[in-house]
This record gives sequence, structure tokens and C-alpha cells, in this order.
Amino acid sequence: MITQKTIDRFNRKTIKLNNKINCIQWHGAINSKGIPLFTVNNKPIPAYRASYLFFVDSSLHKGTSVYHTCSNKLCVNPDHLTLDINKAAFSWNNDFSYDLPIINTDSLVPLNDYINKIKTLEDEIKSLKKQLMSK
Ligand SMILES: [Zn+2]
Repeated sequence: MITQKTIDRFNRKTIKLNNKINCIQWHGAINSKGIPLFTVNNKPIPAYRASYLFFVDSSLHKGTSVYHTCSNKLCVNPDHLTLDINKAAFSWNNDFSYDLPIINTDSLVPLNDYINKIKTLEDEIKSLKKQLMSK
């Protein structure tokens, strides 16, 4: 549920830039990846995504990425946001996982295990090939 209070809180964290295309700059929280964040219902989401939800389409699907048409990744001007990847100025934010507030790094450990396992298997294949070639 998006309330006017939430939208007011959002707007207080923005500044209209005097650039030619009227970007609206985010000056709230920014995560370590440079993504502007706004908390909605106790969940941090990209601020440009919040802007799209508030001012363009509140039915935005969770798996749908929001792109910038301007090249300013801190811009939250709804007129500079699009769902069309062909209009995107850059594609740094096309990762659906930004919907998730916390990335569980524990889940990355098994991935490293897999990568190591693949490397080991590739080495085994190489040595088997060598053995076959030498016969
Ligand atoms: Zn902009």
C-alpha cells in the first residue's frame, strides 16, 4: 500500500537538477553498487523503481526491469524511466535481483564449489584425452 506520506518522504529525498533534460536527482541512500535505494514497506528497492511504481504504473511486475532513458543512474524522474530495454541509456540495472533487498552471500559458496568441480572435471577430461591420444 503506497500512501501519500510515503510519496512525500520519497520527494523529500530528491532534487531537481538544472540540466537540459531536467533530471530529478536522488540524494537518499545509495548502496555499495551505486544504486539509489528507497524503503517501501520495510523493504529497500531501487529509488528509480519506486518512482516508476509511484508515478507511472503501480502494477509494475516484480520481474520487470526499469531502465533509464537518461544516462544518470541517480535520476528518479519518471519521464526518464522506461521498461523498454531498447530505449535504455545503459544496462547496469537490468538485473532482476535488485528487487531483493539482501543478497545472501552464502548461496554464492556452492556456486564456487560448482565452478571448482567443473574445473576439476575439465582437467580430468583433458588428461583422459591425452591418454587416449597417446594410445
Ligand atoms: Zn534523468
